[in-house]
Amino acid sequence: MPVQNNKKKIMSKREFSLKGHSLSKGVAVARICLFNDTVHREPSYYKINVDNIDKEKKRIERAFNEAIEKTTSIKKETAQKLGKSEAGIFEAHLMILKDRSVRRKIDTAVEQKHLNAEAAVSEIFEDYEKRIASIDDEYLKQRSSDIAEIKSRILSHLGKTDSAFNCKDQTYCVRGKNRIIVAEELTPHLTMDMNTANVAGFITEKGGPGSHAAILARALGIPAVSGLQGIHSFLNCGMEVIVDGDSGKVLVNPSEEAVSKVKEIKAKGLIKISKVSPVKNVKVLANVNTSSDIAEAVEMDAEGIGLYRTEFEFIREGKMLSEEEQYELYVKAVKEMKDKPVYFRMLDLGSDKPAPGLKYMREENPALGLRGARLLEANEDLLEAQSRALSGASLYGNVNVMVPMVIDTKQFLNIKKKFYKAIEGRKSGDIKFGAMFEVPAACLQADNILKEADFASIGSNDLVQYLFAVDRNNDSVSYDYHPDREVLWTLLKNMADAAHRHKRPISICGEMAAEIEFLKKILDAGINTVSVSPRFIPEVRKNASGQLKKKE
Ligand code: PEP
Ligand code: MG
Repeated sequence: MPVQNNKKKIMSKREFSLKGHSLSKGVAVARICLFNDTVHREPSYYKINVDNIDKEKKRIERAFNEAIEKTTSIKKETAQKLGKSEAGIFEAHLMILKDRSVRRKIDTAVEQKHLNAEAAVSEIFEDYEKRIASIDDEYLKQRSSDIAEIKSRILSHLGKTDSAFNCKDQTYCVRGKNRIIVAEELTPHLTMDMNTANVAGFITEKGGPGSHAAILARALGIPAVSGLQGIHSFLNCGMEVIVDGDSGKVLVNPSEEAVSKVKEIKAKGLIKISKVSPVKNVKVLANVNTSSDIAEAVEMDAEGIGLYRTEFEFIREGKMLSEEEQYELYVKAVKEMKDKPVYFRMLDLGSDKPAPGLKYMREENPALGLRGARLLEANEDLLEAQSRALSGASLYGNVNVMVPMVIDTKQFLNIKKKFYKAIEGRKSGDIKFGAMFEVPAACLQADNILKEADFASIGSNDLVQYLFAVDRNNDSVSYDYHPDREVLWTLLKNMADAAHRHKRPISICGEMAAEIEFLKKILDAGINTVSVSPRFIPEVRKNASGQLKKKE
């Protein structure tokens, strides 16, 4: 797509199309929202531990210093380009930024109310804003918007968000509501942050089909296209586009005819996905990302939850959850599923899912870095708190615990030992403790690991990534990120044989399980339990009963 260096925004109404890669099927027509991190991201507000007061105050100090530096340079540039009087507004901003009493109030809110930096900055500035807006003076009323601007600037420095996007035409801006979001890349945090229930579609510059954000878009049924490098630099907020997740195309300034075609398709698509009852030959469970997906799993009559990505609860909240908070979520999940099994995947943080609040060293190669089981081993407090929360929940339902990204028996046993040590002496239900097979080394040692694990769950999203050395997050190599290769089927068959030898249940919860063309091969490999996003359950079941009829 020849748009890389096209910095000129297109203002004409000419219709033209762009070709990217499909991330999530479906079609949508809407105005676009050029995603701007600093404008759209909701900062995280929470209470801090007393030990962290100094750390938060230092963050505030750094954010103010950076904001002063930035405002000073904007002031200089404005004075040169437009003249001194136009630059005066930034002088006023600098006075506020340098005002010691403002800083003192914010620091006091951190010290006395234990607010995190974002919450303290927002509270104090919003208070100023309200007070100024209530003064009966037109000039001062207008100044209240300056206060809001300074607040956003400091919050953006706190969040270290230096996005290149510019949402200039704020009259259109509704934070993505009923809009097609155009962003550089969708991170899981961003996707969850956007209140996706209201998003019509996604267009991104980069991001592969196996990325967690793409998985989320598919689970939500939101069309998405990626690989359109430079797109944000030549489109404006508010322009109308059609995003076609089936063909990977984006149509800018579509004709009336093209729009009405899409509207027709959408109207047909509004027919509710209807549930299909369980079938004989395949157990179909649900993949859920957060507790709010469980209702859909119940509605689709899932035979359990085959993958609960517990780390998404942390990402959604933008903070590390306490043991108590986790316990409540897990109890809710098992209760909602009645006696059906729930497979809780222990925190799979790291890589494209950084833990909010955990310190990370910058990693050159995060997919091969501190993530999954490795991260759990390195953060015992985290592992222990989650173990206790899960053990508590097991008193209310069918709890199964699985370890992500296991590399060998030694590592699996180490985590298993820590899990049982953490829950020692506590009352708990009959917990099954298993391993995820998503690293080729673990698959090759399946016999050994399955002597120790109660079950096996195949995470094919990562397995494909590591088996073929192809980054699941990189759209420019997405042509190579696909599971339909003989060596993978051989590996899956060997895994299934090992599970049967050891009389251990085996299932597959990667995205390929929802791809209808692979179901027969999965069954032929000897795996008859799959876990997919709730919305794909009916299709998988229909296909499974079709397979059964063919055999009869
Ligand atoms: C997988 O890797 O297949 C999997 C299910 O886990 P995730 O997609 O969350 O990495
Ligand atoms: Mg995985």
